[in-house]
Amino acid sequence: MASHLTGGPSLPQERRLVTQIPGPASLERLDRKKQHVADGVGTTLPVFVTAAGGGVLVDVDGNSLIDLGSGIAVTSVGNAAPDVVSRVQEQVAAFTHTCFMITPYDGYVDVCAALAELTPGDHAKKSALFNSGAEAVENAVKIARVATGRDAVAVFDHAYHGRTNLTMAMTAKNMPYKQGFGPFAGEVYRAPMSYPFRDGLSGEEAAARAIDVIEKQVGASNLACVVVEPIQGEGGFVVPARGFLPALTEWCTRNDVVFIADEIQTGFCRTGDWFASHHEGVVPDLVTTAKGIAGGLPLAAVTGRADLMDSVHVGGLGGTYGGNPVACAAALGAIEEMHSHDLAGRARQIGALMHERLTAIAGDHPVIGDLRGRGAMMAIELCEPGTTLPDPVRTAAVSAYCHQQGVVTLTCGTWGNVLRLLPPLAISNPLLHEGLDVLAEAFAATA
Ligand SMILES: *Cc1c(COP(=O)(O)O)cnc(C)c1O
Repeated sequence: MASHLTGGPSLPQERRLVTQIPGPASLERLDRKKQHVADGVGTTLPVFVTAAGGGVLVDVDGNSLIDLGSGIAVTSVGNAAPDVVSRVQEQVAAFTHTCFMITPYDGYVDVCAALAELTPGDHAKKSALFNSGAEAVENAVKIARVATGRDAVAVFDHAYHGRTNLTMAMTAKNMPYKQGFGPFAGEVYRAPMSYPFRDGLSGEEAAARAIDVIEKQVGASNLACVVVEPIQGEGGFVVPARGFLPALTEWCTRNDVVFIADEIQTGFCRTGDWFASHHEGVVPDLVTTAKGIAGGLPLAAVTGRADLMDSVHVGGLGGTYGGNPVACAAALGAIEEMHSHDLAGRARQIGALMHERLTAIAGDHPVIGDLRGRGAMMAIELCEPGTTLPDPVRTAAVSAYCHQQGVVTLTCGTWGNVLRLLPPLAISNPLLHEGLDVLAEAFAATA
């Protein structure tokens, strides 16, 4: 077997371009995709992958690309990480499915025990497992509604919570997530987010503004939960001003409103701690997780106060595949990788390196209006120099240049003017530097 077909960390950790991007073999497959796959399923960087590991993706033409996206913060432990692969192989050969609601197995309970230990707070916690982030968010809302006997859900500007009907209602951005897909679920209310680059407010001021909207437009006594991403993902890597999250949690506690942290993108070492809530000592009532939890296999969870979790009647939570044994084995392997390689510490190193390099790039290119993020979750927001007017055209051009040069970058933001960096925590420093060299070149080339 050719070496480029062997995935995992044994792959040569190098950027290697042997064709244009996409190359002829990928172009052929794109024709097949066009023929068989619904057009609604888009593609950011149209190369077909055959292997991935560490900080690279290898395509069907033999190109080796630097991965600064981790499949949207999923393969934080690296693609095909050794502890994930070995545990999955063992599990998949033993049994693939029973449905936990019919006949249980250890892996599910082990993941729930690990979640109780790793999520913020040392109170009694329980979990339920699902397949996708959106499903976890939906179930967190279900639990909050049963526990409080109230209907309303408060979410924020720029929020992203998924693509199912309830989570589309909770997601802020219309195109492409919501356009034409309504009517949406009711009783979802939107409050202003703390967005320091755009509002200049302190965390306390921004929280007071959000709470005022919630109190006046919804009423605390009607509110089941407040759902917030501690650092927003798709909405633009918006880091709320310090103090915003603690003030919100305090208000929720005072008003018996369930505070739900959506840590689906920020969780599992990504921001330099196990969860982003940890950075401000915030202890959510419920936490939703997915993405980085299982090294690439589909798994999601709701974890939180045992009394809230247990407010739901027996049979009220579940799903055919939720907490699939192979996905649970992958999660246990991923968590082991995070512990044994101190990936939270590694995320802080990666963050420091990226911050230094991006600060230098921003110094040369006034189109970069803001640099923000935490740990290995960092972004730059592109605006017309000296203003907050979004520049999505330049953002797309910079990203396209990176793709042509073999570096996987992603964009995000309500205005599509944010370049976000989510490298695998298994990436090497030289490879990360090379990826950022290409990003610097991209700014120069598109000036
Ligand atoms: C990705 C994401 C979701 C949705 O997760 P899926 O697995 O795609 O359903 C929800 N919330 C946040 C913060 C996310 O980043």
